[in-house]
Amino acid sequence: MKYDRTTLQRAAEEMVHRQKKANSEAEKRRSFLFAQCPEAAELDRKIASTSSRFAAILAQKDKETIQREISILQNENLHWQKQLEKILLSRNLPKDYLDVHYECPICHDTGSHNGQMCSCFETLLRQTAFRELCESSPLEVCSFSDFDLRYYPDDDGDISSRTVMKSIFDYCRCYAADFSEESPNICMYGSTGLGKTHLSLAIAAEVIQKGYGVVYGSCPNLVSRLEREKFGRSTENTEDSLLECDLLILDDLGAEFSTQFTVATVYNIINTRLLKRLPTIISTNLDMEGIQQKYTERVASRLIGEYTLLRFSGKDVRQLKNN
Ligand SMILES: [Zn+2]
Repeated sequence: MKYDRTTLQRAAEEMVHRQKKANSEAEKRRSFLFAQCPEAAELDRKIASTSSRFAAILAQKDKETIQREISILQNENLHWQKQLEKILLSRNLPKDYLDVHYECPICHDTGSHNGQMCSCFETLLRQTAFRELCESSPLEVCSFSDFDLRYYPDDDGDISSRTVMKSIFDYCRCYAADFSEESPNICMYGSTGLGKTHLSLAIAAEVIQKGYGVVYGSCPNLVSRLEREKFGRSTENTEDSLLECDLLILDDLGAEFSTQFTVATVYNIINTRLLKRLPTIISTNLDMEGIQQKYTERVASRLIGEYTLLRFSGKDVRQLKNN
């Protein structure tokens, strides 16, 4: 997955922040201990001098002297370390109390390891890209556990809205739990306030937890970002993120102002991701007829043919909650 410059920059800044934090916390622990125990400070100073003494020994000519002095130095070093450990132990402090505790033990919060990007930085990039595109979505309040089926009537037809929504809920929960690159596309449709955004965000949160790159955004917002970038008013690269992320969630399709540009853009996103076989979740208040009218037959036929259609049912949950 490619990332735009802002995402890379923010992730790199976060990495520097993590490193500084780890160092300053270690420094605080050291000052705290050394203020109470000068002996520990002295031992620490001696241990720290080992490398310069080691270099000085290596600069000598005689091989035997070098070997002898290195062995003395090693023994001394070991002795100091043990003494320091004893002091820590006597104060009920862990062995590694004075070490810098990095968030990532592999790359020490530098983001790279053996000349390659560390997996912690890849995860951070995905999270950063997601956060950037998430706008102000209340992701933390949208989980499967707080989706309340009691808001859906169970007496409004042969198959009640609650029954319909129960099966949609189960489908979405399994979808999130079993998510992979081969997961199908989903189109959630139905009138406003029936929980489409809630369930798509619940899926997003769980799929991110699994380490996949998810981009979530409302269609009007994403399309206007693309428009700004297309016409040179912004240097970010939303299009790459949309076309290449592991899971794209396009919320509120149809809410954007309809122009030739938006129609072509939506078609391009849907079609390109289908060709790349990358899963997409779309939610919309329009029905298939509305989609056909707004986005032409081409888009509607792709949704009907290539997406699992989930028709939401019930009464506006947001209104019920406010009453
Ligand atoms: Zn790392």
